[in-house]
Amino acid sequence: MDLMAIPVLDQHAHNLLKPDAASQTPFRAAFTEGYDPDIIAHHAPHTLFYRRSLREIAELLSCDPNEQAILARRNELGLEQLTNLCFAAANMEGVLIDDGLLPDEILPLAWHRQFVPVQRLLRLEVMAEELVGEAESFDDFLARFRAAIDPPPAEVVGVKSIIAYRSGLDVRLTSFEAAREKFDVWKVAGQGRRPRLEDKTLLDFLLMQALEIAARHQLPVQFHTGFGDPDLDLRLANPLHLRPLLENRRYRGAPIVLLHASYPFMREAGYLASVYPNVYVDMGLAVPMLSVSGMRRALQGLLELAPFSKLMYSSDAHLIPELYYLAAKWGRIILGAALEEAVRDTDLTATEADEVAEAVLRGNARTLYHLSIS
Ligand SMILES: [Zn+2]
Repeated sequence: MDLMAIPVLDQHAHNLLKPDAASQTPFRAAFTEGYDPDIIAHHAPHTLFYRRSLREIAELLSCDPNEQAILARRNELGLEQLTNLCFAAANMEGVLIDDGLLPDEILPLAWHRQFVPVQRLLRLEVMAEELVGEAESFDDFLARFRAAIDPPPAEVVGVKSIIAYRSGLDVRLTSFEAAREKFDVWKVAGQGRRPRLEDKTLLDFLLMQALEIAARHQLPVQFHTGFGDPDLDLRLANPLHLRPLLENRRYRGAPIVLLHASYPFMREAGYLASVYPNVYVDMGLAVPMLSVSGMRRALQGLLELAPFSKLMYSSDAHLIPELYYLAAKWGRIILGAALEEAVRDTDLTATEADEVAEAVLRGNARTLYHLSIS
């Protein structure tokens, strides 16, 4: 199936780097989740993803398929023209951007709006870190934290949690008193600056607060799940850890979106989407970062069980515009191949496969985030 004609609604991506930050970041750093300089310098160029992508970017930019030629061509084009080229080739009808990644080094949402309609995803842990400095007490902090999302600001269509990175997805019910005790330690450690929030008690408590508000507003909550940079313990990024939270009826009104195909826990994610009405899954990062056969297996792993009304496209693109293009290209190819196979297997009719493609690439996200992009 050729799905190129269907514009994608990218339900999770990040801002591009400011030119000065980009000049300090090796191009190949965008092709690995590792940040160890040795990984970036010596190993990132030896992945199937990187090799495939170099050829595809070179073709898009009309230059030779090597890093030097690509860097020269990118310089020639400049960031605006490069972005225009990549975004146009991605054929996007809109993008939801989590602007909590590298907040000091990225271009603002408004900059991206010259190329594509943008809505905002608010990163909870970063928001908490921004609020702690001004807060006079835990009660004051909590009031500010809650007010920031109740009701959600106009441009915010969802929130995002990186609790998988900080203390893991085994979120537990935590008392107000226990959280207040930890707050004082956290605040003192920060000395008026923006201290990193990594205490499990506080993280769990604040997430529950946010979920309760999200449930009232039917505001989708995206969770980082599965692989990511080595800041996370992959064992605790398995979405099965979320069970106590998913079983708690208090939070049922909050749609929970499991990002990154939960790779390598695709089947676990698909299972959760198949039994909990408010759980959704997403194919971002796994597509385009894996090998072609890996991407195919990741999507098949989700689709084995997950209702296709719960599956959404995203890129998780960050740092450079090329990732938006590569994700959109491979998102369509891999989805098309999976649906063709489903038709061959008699799981779907050809007409049904067309409907599923439309739903996964944009329809499901439009409905979930109440977007009216025409
Ligand atoms: Zn992301």
